[in-house]
Amino acid sequence: MDKTIIGGGDSRSNKAAVQATNDDASASKLSCVKKGYIKDDYVHLFVRRPVRRSPIINRGYFARWATFRKFLHQFLNSEPKSNEGHIKKQILSLGAGFDATYFQLKDEGRAPHLYVELDFKEVTCKKSTIIENAPLLRGKISETASISQEKGEVISDNYKLLPVDLRDIQCLNDLILAHMDPSLPTFIIAECVLIYLDPESSNAIVEWASRTFSTSVFFLYEQINPHDAFGQQMIRNLESRGCGLLGIYATPTLDAKEKLFLDQGWQRAVAWDMLKIYTSFIEPQERQRIERLELFDEFEEWYMMQEHYCVTCAINDAMGMFEDYGFPKDQHVTSASAASSP
Ligand code: SAH
Repeated sequence: MDKTIIGGGDSRSNKAAVQATNDDASASKLSCVKKGYIKDDYVHLFVRRPVRRSPIINRGYFARWATFRKFLHQFLNSEPKSNEGHIKKQILSLGAGFDATYFQLKDEGRAPHLYVELDFKEVTCKKSTIIENAPLLRGKISETASISQEKGEVISDNYKLLPVDLRDIQCLNDLILAHMDPSLPTFIIAECVLIYLDPESSNAIVEWASRTFSTSVFFLYEQINPHDAFGQQMIRNLESRGCGLLGIYATPTLDAKEKLFLDQGWQRAVAWDMLKIYTSFIEPQERQRIERLELFDEFEEWYMMQEHYCVTCAINDAMGMFEDYGFPKDQHVTSASAASSP
């Protein structure tokens, strides 16, 4: 196993172990697909050993997926007020792993103008190989695409998969400027990625994203609440596998997650924990549908688990297209101006 230490020598974290969290995410997604929680016709192509997850893990993964999809569709439906026709949009996924949202959106006729995925080269090499060898995936990318399994790259008109270490801001910036138009409305995804980085790197990425994309939504999904017994156990479990949550003590609460973005130049930021999201944001019909799928009696554990994950949605709105975007406004809203007033 590659024991390269992440974060300039933090013994709690190694690169291969952090990359392996991607295999866990894909396996959880596939488990949810098989039980009927979510629809994803492509994730099975990325999972070597399918596993059946417990109902609580399936429900948790469903909540993560449903929240992400709701934010994504809100973004795809947003238009600048002054705009006559349809404006081009793009998606940037940081630490995308084996996520197959692009292929799913293609099927749904909802793929944006451009979808860019970034990850460590070890991961993008594997992903580009799978894409090139699976006709179901290869067929969704233009025939003229350039695919290099050695470089871990897929470059096509509408979809790009590129290798980079996100902590190298100069490389990240050069890569994005070469492949994206930062003036377009952009949906930036960081699902269980920044929390594995040292806080200085996360700050730098969040600052870079704000500086670069003037009309954008940043969707962050990750752990919170390190201090109680459940939080300590969660941290120990991951640390024992070599994937320490290096960022969790710098952003331990919802307020701290919002502050991370507001301090780095974002206009608005709102964070909700997954318990509140599950009861007040996910569509009630969807909740009722999935609650019938499996027997479920781990309620105490469920509430605790959901209080340890959250979504932060940060917005830069130069074009004025995200006025009503995000969580419902009347609940727990912080803006840059509100946060700085006494
Ligand atoms: N976002 C995906 C995968 C999450 S697993 C999903 O939700 O399904 C975390 C991913 O982040 C892994 O694929 C890992 O390789 C990637 N990652 C972690 N640190 C990174 C870094 N410094 N640079 C690039 N990718 C990184």
